[in-house]
Amino acid sequence: MDLEMERKFRCPHCGERVSMLLDLSEDGSHTYVEDCEVCCKPIQIAFEAAGGELVTFGASA
Ligand SMILES: [Zn+2]
Repeated sequence: MDLEMERKFRCPHCGERVSMLLDLSEDGSHTYVEDCEVCCKPIQIAFEAAGGELVTFGASA
């Protein structure tokens, strides 16, 4: 079962529209850091998954 979804958002550093793949196969809260594909600065990603669905999503500098 493929539980990855693409999420588009604006980079908190450069304001450009970027997208990332989220793995929704594990329920609960997940946080990690990924570099922006435009400005290469680290973005803190925090999201919550439940039953393969995205519940909350946040991206901060
Ligand atoms: Zn950026």
